[in-house]
Amino acid sequence: MNSIEPGADSIESEYEALLSFMYLSPVGLVRTNPSGVIDMLNPMATQLLMPLVKLTGLENLFETLSSVAPELRNLVTSFRESCGSICVGHRIHVSPASEGGIVLTCTIVKINNEVLITVLTDISCQVATERRLRQTDSWLDAIYTIVNDFAVLGLTKQGVINSWSPSAERLTGYAESEAIGETLRRFCNLPDVDVDVFDEHLTFAREEGWHSRDYLCQHKSGHTFFAQTMIAVLREEDDEFSGYTVVCRDITERKVSSDNLANLLTKDHLTGAVNRAHFFNLAEKEFARANRYGQSISIIMLDADHFKQVNDSWGHPMGDEVLKSIVKIAEGVLRPGDTIARFGGEEFAVMLPKSNGLEASVVAERLRSSIEASSVSSAGGEIKITVSIGCASMSESRSTLKQLLVCADAALYHAKSKGRNCIVDIDDF
Ligand code: GH3
Ligand code: MG
Ligand code: MG
Repeated sequence: MNSIEPGADSIESEYEALLSFMYLSPVGLVRTNPSGVIDMLNPMATQLLMPLVKLTGLENLFETLSSVAPELRNLVTSFRESCGSICVGHRIHVSPASEGGIVLTCTIVKINNEVLITVLTDISCQVATERRLRQTDSWLDAIYTIVNDFAVLGLTKQGVINSWSPSAERLTGYAESEAIGETLRRFCNLPDVDVDVFDEHLTFAREEGWHSRDYLCQHKSGHTFFAQTMIAVLREEDDEFSGYTVVCRDITERKVSSDNLANLLTKDHLTGAVNRAHFFNLAEKEFARANRYGQSISIIMLDADHFKQVNDSWGHPMGDEVLKSIVKIAEGVLRPGDTIARFGGEEFAVMLPKSNGLEASVVAERLRSSIEASSVSSAGGEIKITVSIGCASMSESRSTLKQLLVCADAALYHAKSKGRNCIVDIDDF
């Protein structure tokens, strides 16, 4: 046999290397006898055991660990082999989560009948991460399966659906096999002009980390619903952008009730015209805009003629129908940016942004003649109505809403005195 006997020097240097390994090791190393009496431990072991040494000192490892791991002594005494691993990665909870959550793993190796080496590792961070992951898992589980009006799904970098949950199937009616490979567009009820809206949503999410929008969606069965849709960017461990996570929520009820509330606050309940208070809100903004851009605004005041007689002849409910018909006709005549408001019983104000006196008189005439030409059917026959109209437009001497309203009202008064069913512009008298 050709073996080389190590010299005394080499044994000594190996021993020193071993000592410095023990000293520098990032894990705790403790050498004990089988009863746990410590004869050597490295600085990391001292540090890890420090929270426990107050009561017991640091002479006997099993004694030091007895309050948190009383089973260790039994593990050792019941180990019958002459050498080998007594336990591997045995978890010891040194302090509860509420007090720092220190968790160690303990591996005890029996070298021979006289010597045990115990390796202690701090896994507190790993345990905290595991706990967080379990919590996230349970949240996701809840969202995936329990919560009815939420849906969770995943998109590739290109915005193609690559994961679909049972909650997404519930929300949309589409099964996983129908959804994978599609884009979000499939579930939305959008007019053609808006097809780029999802690309924009994904772009914003990429730029800001996440982005939320409401979409009108269509369930597989045909009904529509509003979905608040949050898209968040998904990144890999190395921070590389890898796709999107989408969380959708059916907010139809909330949206309908908030729209209803807005209508209650801004509209006249009988005719659906804007109410007086909201008219002033809108007019304030419109006048500010007109002044900023040097544009004109016209105001028309409109009052039903001899309306008392309508009520007297046809009854109050039919009078209501006539008021509704006036607003309906006006909405057909006015442009989208114009506003008709019910100011009083049978009196209405109309705001015409970007209109001068000439343009306003054209609109006023169309209103007057359309109403004159129309009628409301009732059991007793056709109800006819006419209106008188006063107009006022912005000029050097008239620039505020108040001035225009006063002038339009004066012009209306004049139209009444002229015989009704006619239009008077404040500048015409
Ligand atoms: P004029 O041509 O001078 O405007 O005469 P008029 O009869 O229209 O005016 P007057 O102010 O004398 O009467 C307005 C009527 O409008 C009286 C009121 O009962 C009626 N009125 C007000 N609000 C409503 C409503 O909401 N519904 C109905 N049906 N009638 C209403
Ligand atoms: Mg009237
Ligand atoms: Mg009146």
